[in-house]
Amino acid sequence: MTRNGCKVCRVLDDHDMEHHESRLVEDWQADGPRRRGYRKLAEWLNVTMLRREMDAAGMETLGEEGQSKYRRLTGDDPTVAAEVRQSLRDAGVPVDRLEDDFVSYGVVRTHLKECLDAEREHTSGEWERDAIDIASEHAAEKVREAVRSLENKGELDAIGDVSVHVTVELEDEDTHVRVPADRAIRRGYVSRDDGR
Ligand SMILES: [Zn+2]
Repeated sequence: MTRNGCKVCRVLDDHDMEHHESRLVEDWQADGPRRRGYRKLAEWLNVTMLRREMDAAGMETLGEEGQSKYRRLTGDDPTVAAEVRQSLRDAGVPVDRLEDDFVSYGVVRTHLKECLDAEREHTSGEWERDAIDIASEHAAEKVREAVRSLENKGELDAIGDVSVHVTVELEDEDTHVRVPADRAIRRGYVSRDDGR
């Protein structure tokens, strides 16, 4: 394995988490329900980092506590994120450094494919799902920027904070049935001739 220093390499070193690397590769290459995409792997690594720091600070990490805190910390609601950040900081978790260390799905992909030179068999629908995920996330990010700008200019009002959700929908042009892309892919059809 080459250590040419992508962010995942550095973070695994810094956090003494090298032994998590095999799990990363195994879950990426796994078949069936254990198989994880880049986004899930990035979240798993970040939650693991957070949970270790919470443990070290003597905080409760049983059950889904780490994941729940992570999701609130990185979610779309800045007020909630600020509260979680403050509570972690108060408990002695080095949250600012942690947030700098959180990895994105893109760098997980670089790490697996370039640093580890790992490969996996494509099951049908795998790169296609990744492509839709990446495009949706990119679209949501652009919309978030635009919405923030409109809010700042006073051209868009809301009582609370505004979050953005992008859903890609597929439409059958004959029947005009429309379904979210992930649902269509999961069940294997947009529309079919069974009375629907
Ligand atoms: Zn790497």
